[in-house]
Amino acid sequence: MRRITIFGATGSIGENTVDLITRAGGADAYDVVALTGGRNVARLAEQARALRADLAVTAHEDCYADLKDALAGTGIEVAAGTEAIEAAAERPADWIMSAIVGAAGLKPGLRALEQGTTLALANKESLVTAGPLLMATARRHGATILPVDSEHSAIFQGLVGEDMGAVERIIITASGGAFRDWPVEKLATATLAQASTHPNWNMGQRITIDSASMFNKALEVIEVKEFFGTSPDQIEVLVHPESLVHALVGFRDGALMAHLGAADMRHAIGYALNWPERADLPVERLNLARIGQLNFTAPDPQRYPALRLAYEVMAMGGLAGAAFNAAKERALDAFIAGEAGFLQMAAIVEQVLDRVSGQTGLIDAPIELENVMQMDQAAREIAAQCLT
Ligand code: NDP
Repeated sequence: MRRITIFGATGSIGENTVDLITRAGGADAYDVVALTGGRNVARLAEQARALRADLAVTAHEDCYADLKDALAGTGIEVAAGTEAIEAAAERPADWIMSAIVGAAGLKPGLRALEQGTTLALANKESLVTAGPLLMATARRHGATILPVDSEHSAIFQGLVGEDMGAVERIIITASGGAFRDWPVEKLATATLAQASTHPNWNMGQRITIDSASMFNKALEVIEVKEFFGTSPDQIEVLVHPESLVHALVGFRDGALMAHLGAADMRHAIGYALNWPERADLPVERLNLARIGQLNFTAPDPQRYPALRLAYEVMAMGGLAGAAFNAAKERALDAFIAGEAGFLQMAAIVEQVLDRVSGQTGLIDAPIELENVMQMDQAAREIAAQCLT
């Protein structure tokens, strides 16, 4: 039986993964090694019982007692804290879903790769902050990373049987988020509730807000570079309001291969779960005649400054991605807490990038875990200063 672990099981990606595993037979079809979550211990306990997991881990030590109570008498092991999550990553598993949100997903992902597993990577932040480290760790330990972001899964599928040398460009699409039709002058007034509603996808709150600001697409552009080794000038973004074409791969003979599918993350998760085979998935089949038309426009740089910043980050190289992601996470915390306006997020991130790139040697330090964590911390502190 295939041994599996899910990091971030209680989140949006985690729930979709649990759904697919349950439909495929649950505990009778998979040996569930560990499930991890954060504050939603009631749901984590429910999942652990239903999938008969060996271990359930909450990221928060103050949630330990509640999780322990909820799983009393089941024989399921319980643990808490970030180190416990890393320890769970070291338990032998054949397939691990990395779906913790934010830079907190980096260390468990690295630990998982060190045991030579197959890592289904939804946590794009770990590729943005430490892409070369992640990829080198996978190579060194014979591990496999499978992309779970829908665009990256689409590219990955478009490249099956192809030679990377024949790839001319990669195009990822963006829905344009909650404010794609708003007048740019109105963006400064965008509220948390408005930014937390996505026109097409049903996702966690943080990524939904990042879609409205295009920070999500900015992270994904960097993710393309890190995962596929593409140079920044080969990566393009198109606004595609229908969210049905997820990505396109352009080849040197002019052919453009598009991947289409319903806006349902179970498609990309299911592809990673069943790879290299395909299995039946409970996703909607597209009726193109009914859809009728698909629209594409170039992203407006005034509306989406985050995209320009992504290309600046790639030009800076080194630890700029770690600074970018940490500053973005801190700015997003501030927006959620009502301490910063919607447009202030990009302004803060830009200021942080200016500050760290002005300090000799900071960005050029080797991409090692300690340096990445230091850069992450420094960028969060600078972002906090920008708020005051
Ligand atoms: P959610 O916020 O819905 O879920 C995040 C998960 O991580 C939850 O299980 C949460 O626990 C847990 N968690 C939160 N903070 C921590 C922490 N500090 N340490 C450990 N665990 C923590 O996020 P999503 O599912 O939306 O996104 C997960 C990842 O997948 C992100 O990197 C995102 O960018 C990426 N992604 C998401 C997509 C989507 O459709 N949602 C699409 C493509 C990529 P709890 O809820 O119990 O507190």
